[in-house]
Amino acid sequence: MYQSIKNEIFHVHTWRCKHAADDRDYEYVEKAIDLGAGRIVFTDHCPFPGDPFRSRMDMAQLEEYISTLSQLKAKYASRIELVAGLETEYLPSYNNYYSELKKTEGLDLLILGQHMFEHDDGSLSFGDEDKSVEYVGLCRAIVDGIKTGYFDVVAHPDRSFRRCKTWTADMERAGLEIIREAQKNNVLLERNFSSMKHKKHYWKQFWSEETLEISIYGYDAHSVEEMEAFWKKKK
Ligand SMILES: [Zn+2]
Ligand SMILES: [Zn+2]
Repeated sequence: MYQSIKNEIFHVHTWRCKHAADDRDYEYVEKAIDLGAGRIVFTDHCPFPGDPFRSRMDMAQLEEYISTLSQLKAKYASRIELVAGLETEYLPSYNNYYSELKKTEGLDLLILGQHMFEHDDGSLSFGDEDKSVEYVGLCRAIVDGIKTGYFDVVAHPDRSFRRCKTWTADMERAGLEIIREAQKNNVLLERNFSSMKHKKHYWKQFWSEETLEISIYGYDAHSVEEMEAFWKKKK
């Protein structure tokens, strides 16, 4: 189980994902130290074998990502704790891959960021014509993902409802299933600062009182500047 600490910066991306600033990894670490953080958690978007998806590092970069973070971990050990993680979708076809990642030395954490999902026939949801019920598939994939035990934290669970207009009883039920499964498996649910900046990405209705004990705040920062801005907002 992931143990959150008060002064942590959780969920930071890097230049490798192709949609973040060009800032170097050490610049995030040094800024985090300046701000007074006790821990920084990198969770860049996870590559998949054969590079089938965009907006993430290439498979060939994974080794370099882990080794760079390992070096920074050692270099800054006396000043800040560094956690090297990945944010990944749960796609059942890749079950063996996740278990390999779990065994990879230097990789400390997998968080579940369900940006798309796999249908029963193996096709992926971004090809769907009707996306109005996207949240049903996303929420189901999150529940299935939690059950695997690969993931310690679910990133932005309420972003599943990004295409919904108003909160409904069906959304409530889908959200509750995630909450129940997370409670059962000691998985944390991330309240995502970046989601709060977008309309329909953050749903306060999802965050009922019973999520309080299993919540963690995440930055989802894609630049040093953004990381600093979220830190200051949180204070
Ligand atoms: Zn990103
Ligand atoms: Zn995400």
